[in-house]
Amino acid sequence: MTRLADLPATVDLLIIGAGTAGLVAAKTAAGFGADTLLVEAHRTGGDCLWTGCVPSKSLIAAAEIAQSARDGSHLGVHVDGIRVDFAAVMAHVHGAMATIAPVDSPETIEQSGARVVIGRARFTGPRRAEIDGRPIAFRQAVIATGSAPTLPHTPGMEGVSVLTSDTVWDLTTLPERLVVIGGGAIGCELGQAFARLGSRVVLVQRGPRLLPKEDENAARIVTAALEDDGVDVRLSTEVVRVEANDDGESGILHLVDGTSVPFDRLLAALGRFPRTEGLGLDAAEVRTTERGHVIVDRALRTSNPRIWAAGDVSGLPQFTHTAGVNGSVAATNAVLGLRRTVSDVVPRVTFTHPEVAAVGLQPSEAAANGCSVQTVDHTHVDRAIVDDRTTGFTSLVIDGRGRLRGALIVGPRAGESLGEASLAVSAGLKTNAIASATHAYPTYSDALFNAAVADVRERLQSGALNVAVRALSRVRSWRVR
Ligand SMILES: Cc1cc2nc3c(=O)[nH]c(=O)nc-3n(C[C@H](O)[C@H](O)[C@H](O)COP(=O)(O)OP(=O)(O)OC[C@H]3O[C@@H](n4cnc5c(N)ncnc54)[C@H](O)[C@@H]3O)c2cc1C
Repeated sequence: MTRLADLPATVDLLIIGAGTAGLVAAKTAAGFGADTLLVEAHRTGGDCLWTGCVPSKSLIAAAEIAQSARDGSHLGVHVDGIRVDFAAVMAHVHGAMATIAPVDSPETIEQSGARVVIGRARFTGPRRAEIDGRPIAFRQAVIATGSAPTLPHTPGMEGVSVLTSDTVWDLTTLPERLVVIGGGAIGCELGQAFARLGSRVVLVQRGPRLLPKEDENAARIVTAALEDDGVDVRLSTEVVRVEANDDGESGILHLVDGTSVPFDRLLAALGRFPRTEGLGLDAAEVRTTERGHVIVDRALRTSNPRIWAAGDVSGLPQFTHTAGVNGSVAATNAVLGLRRTVSDVVPRVTFTHPEVAAVGLQPSEAAANGCSVQTVDHTHVDRAIVDDRTTGFTSLVIDGRGRLRGALIVGPRAGESLGEASLAVSAGLKTNAIASATHAYPTYSDALFNAAVADVRERLQSGALNVAVRALSRVRSWRVR
């Protein structure tokens, strides 16, 4: 790690924030030979490693094992006396973080050729910044400061220590009664995981359904799955008041529908806001949206032509893979003077059970875009049948020329099957490319294969192709004669 005192007066590229976007930007720029400085206020690795993907998926893994043990009797395997040792579960969560952390460490980044300094950066002008008060000039800069959880501002909430995705990983005991406020991806993933680990979970969602950004049928399946796991899902309601107990953690939640819910801990999953406070964006002549996201063009350039932005702070889809890819795009454009643009094809997975995996156009958008939909229900997928996990479906959205324009998969390991669909959508592949590739049996991706085969078959039977096939067979019979 570099000391502040050892910094040069000017660097080629200043990157603020060492989450996924900043880390990938730094490695990319250093790889091009640019004099690169990565500044991090807290710890390298960012949300994905410390508070996001890694801890949440580790917790979900433990929760899935607990649930599989309970469900074993469906397949004739009776597991008695299931006991969740929450301290051991959290040790697994922190163990996973510790195992991955070296990949994102200052030492690893410095080995790639970039300097890493710990300190808080702030712009002081269009080409100048300071790090903990030490001035530095830059030729180009990348803003990669990420986002932070939104806190609720309901009357009485100030008396309760509300958990967020930043702090829930510090829990040492499993909350007996947990209320989750917010039914988006994070609320659903964590609510279901805690229920499977043994908490009594109430999930409060303001809107009429969970996962409002996802397909309605997918959300319906996830809602039923959460309820099967014991989550008390309260839709179309919101918190109006909180009564805190003296311990500062537990209390009673009063909902707008007149009901009240006692809780031991409260977890807010209300979305995220961009981390731009104190960043000096005005001094840098970098404009933001009303919600505070840094405004970028498709090449990730801000209103200051020397400054770029990537990751959650840019308001583009908030995923680690987007942050990584866009960190690389921003650094490449900044260092090489190119205008590479970001991809519109962004796969996403909600890691509930079943998972919801989506890319490109969704079934509800098909008609408006001149596309058709092929759906295979997982009751017809042999892998799902042998696993006794037939709840789910695979839908492909296909344009008039047979090109895959989007996919939605709901089921176990849906995120793994999504890779093939993402490749097909981004490469503009047609369903006959999927249908002519041999798929291993029995796998969940059989569903994708069968949906593609169904589409190819329909096209072959359609009028235009029929004419072509008839013409070909006439030519063939003439040749045979
Ligand atoms: C619970 C949860 C689960 C998630 N699960 C998934 C998942 O399964 N898959 C997925 O793709 N995405 C997931 N995400 C989203 C993913 O974590 C984020 O999209 C990703 O981490 C964003 O990366 P980033 O680089 O933009 O920002 P961050 O990772 O937030 O990094 C920003 C960094 O900037 C630093 N910083 C901020 N201001 C300054 C400053 N002034 N000076 C210096 N440093 C500064 C911060 O300390 C931080 O380290 C999840 C998020 C959460 C909260």
